[in-house]
Amino acid sequence: MVVRDLPYYAKRFANLRVDKARGTAPHKPILLLTVLDLFEKGKFPHNEVYLSPELTANFLKFWHQFVSSDHHSNIALPFFHLTGDKFWHLMPNPGFEAAIQARVKLRTLPALRSAVKYAYLDEELFALLQAPQSRHDLTTILIQAWFPEKGNEITESFKYDEFDAIQQTLFDSGGATYNVDDLKDADQIFVRNAAFRRNVVKLYDQRCAFCKLRVVSWDGVNMVDGAHIQPFSEFRDDRFVNGLALCKNHHWAFDRGWFGVDDDYRIMIPWDRFIEEAAVESRGMMGFKGERIELPREESFMPSLEGLRWHRERWGIE
Ligand SMILES: [Zn+2]
Repeated sequence: MVVRDLPYYAKRFANLRVDKARGTAPHKPILLLTVLDLFEKGKFPHNEVYLSPELTANFLKFWHQFVSSDHHSNIALPFFHLTGDKFWHLMPNPGFEAAIQARVKLRTLPALRSAVKYAYLDEELFALLQAPQSRHDLTTILIQAWFPEKGNEITESFKYDEFDAIQQTLFDSGGATYNVDDLKDADQIFVRNAAFRRNVVKLYDQRCAFCKLRVVSWDGVNMVDGAHIQPFSEFRDDRFVNGLALCKNHHWAFDRGWFGVDDDYRIMIPWDRFIEEAAVESRGMMGFKGERIELPREESFMPSLEGLRWHRERWGIE
């Protein structure tokens, strides 16, 4: 019987089954370094590795520092294919059990995110990773086996969280606008979208600008979205003045022009759009007409009047 101890995993980490068709593919060791890094930062209280913006941003951090071959940095590939190394497993989302079981190939980030809830490690490996010494040993093994010439750079890379850094940079500049060429990489788009949304939601104190709903769970998850006033697909505008924090219902309604916001930031309701509505123990949407929306705590990030006017015009709200 195989003893799943530190030497066993050290051997696995040093002998990952990687694609060698176009030079040694660095995806798997980079993903494992990322997992070890986030483990070090206390981001894995449970044996659940989510395909989150944090994971993706730090994957790209290691990728840009360690990879010099011309492979493409697609996190979906190792996240899926590490299952072939027998210590990494996928927990399917409901409805995707059969596809995961049959190892149907999922090669893109969106496809993988819809099919997989999270990845988890062998219980034995997860237990080993609780100890700083085993984490250190496995990190060293990975570096020696896959990036021997980069040994000195690893300490620096472990020091900071790339997703925090991206969010901070974005915050300091009030958001960003992109051109078409910036938006070719699925992993980067995913991270940038998440950074925009987190910032906008924070600016509004996690409250829906329309109904003021604010529900935050014990682990910091909240119910509001960082919505775009002028759609990202058309304007590629991730400045915070193009953002509004909205709950799912009001995000959906705003995107369909069921309400607008006037130059005094008051809610406009186009009456002709409603046939009937009933609200249970709260006001219906129409009851909000003329009420001032919630505004961000930082005045410099007030939602753009130009954008809101554009939105009213698009939907004929007057
Ligand atoms: Zn709302």
